Amino acid sequence: MKISFSPQLMEEAVFRHLNHLERSGYRSEYDEYHSLADPIYELPEDDREAAFEKVNKIFFVERLKLSDHVLRALEACGLIPKRKRTRRRIETAVNPLAPRLVEADEESPDTEDDDETSETNAETADSETAQEIEAVESTDYDPNQDAQAVEQNEDEIAYDLAREFEERIKEVMVKRAINKVDEGSNVLNRISGMPLIELRVLASRFSNPEEVKDLGAFLIHEFMHAKDMVDPEFDYEDAFIPGNPSVKNLITARFRLLWNVYVDSRLDRMGVISVMPREARFREFDNFYRKIPEKQRRGIFEGVWRTEMFTHEELLSMATDLETLMSKYIDDADFSEEEREYIHLQGAPCPLCKFPTYNWVDDPESICDEMVIEAIQIDFPDWESKDGACDRCVEVYELRAGVG
Ligand SMILES: [Zn+2]
Ligand SMILES: [Zn+2]
Repeated sequence: MKISFSPQLMEEAVFRHLNHLERSGYRSEYDEYHSLADPIYELPEDDREAAFEKVNKIFFVERLKLSDHVLRALEACGLIPKRKRTRRRIETAVNPLAPRLVEADEESPDTEDDDETSETNAETADSETAQEIEAVESTDYDPNQDAQAVEQNEDEIAYDLAREFEERIKEVMVKRAINKVDEGSNVLNRISGMPLIELRVLASRFSNPEEVKDLGAFLIHEFMHAKDMVDPEFDYEDAFIPGNPSVKNLITARFRLLWNVYVDSRLDRMGVISVMPREARFREFDNFYRKIPEKQRRGIFEGVWRTEMFTHEELLSMATDLETLMSKYIDDADFSEEEREYIHLQGAPCPLCKFPTYNWVDDPESICDEMVIEAIQIDFPDWESKDGACDRCVEVYELRAGVG
């Protein structure tokens, strides 16, 4: 896997970061940058761009180490193996309140092995020195040694998995987003050949070193989406979403929300801080599914949050058809017949035309002329106003009743 940064991103990120340092009273990098960049104006015009690019790259990658944020995010979500040298720094981004998952039943013979040096064989050469330093640091008796061994073993599994992803992906390109809407990740060349991850990020996110936690959370969250897209288990497909534009928008928005919940809940279980905490995601979920009674709504959200594994198809079908989402996470017993009748789920069929309905008129009686209700009941004698109808059917019967 190759990791590259667009010149525009490097230029603006370096510029903003140096300015921030300078304003905070740290002038040395700022001065050094200008001592390298200012003479470029003396060069022939045609040579300047390449010369600026070179200086920006030196600062972005080496002097200010802004590219490290991207490497750490790739490590955190398992797209490249964790390198020992960055282990401590990753842990600072870890949420100390979240429970760590230690699966006791995943032990292997290695677990009993107290000799730490034998466990470095899977590591790359440059991490071995760091390993040695760690070994020296932990010569004191450590009551947590067993737990550490389990963790070490998990690290190896994670290492192998991440290695697979690293080998499968051709390139990660990080580019400058022009605005917030432009931010996000995408995977190119997904089907044929080796996939290419493209991530767009605002350069301003690199400017303030005190806000690197936000930058890290953003990068990790976006790379998780990209990782899903290249994961055969997730089985991402460019799906055709049927329906008129407003229906499509609704399904797309709900799909995005469910996918975000899937991303953030996994990060939460890993103890990694994401862009939004659980409660904020629940509030989003709440807004989309108001028609489901509160108790059941919470139950569905918790169910989705706790689910370890989704495929793309599962998320999409839950976004398209609420009945799927509800039947998956709520017992029938949780619902009284009465409650169920009053919920007009988006995507559920209109009782009159039987088409999947996204724009319900919940209680036509309350907004329509009596004659409209009567007109409907001539065709559907069992129908009651509380059964609701789609907005188109209501319109049709308004016309028929001569009140449209
Ligand atoms: Zn997202
Ligand atoms: Zn209808």
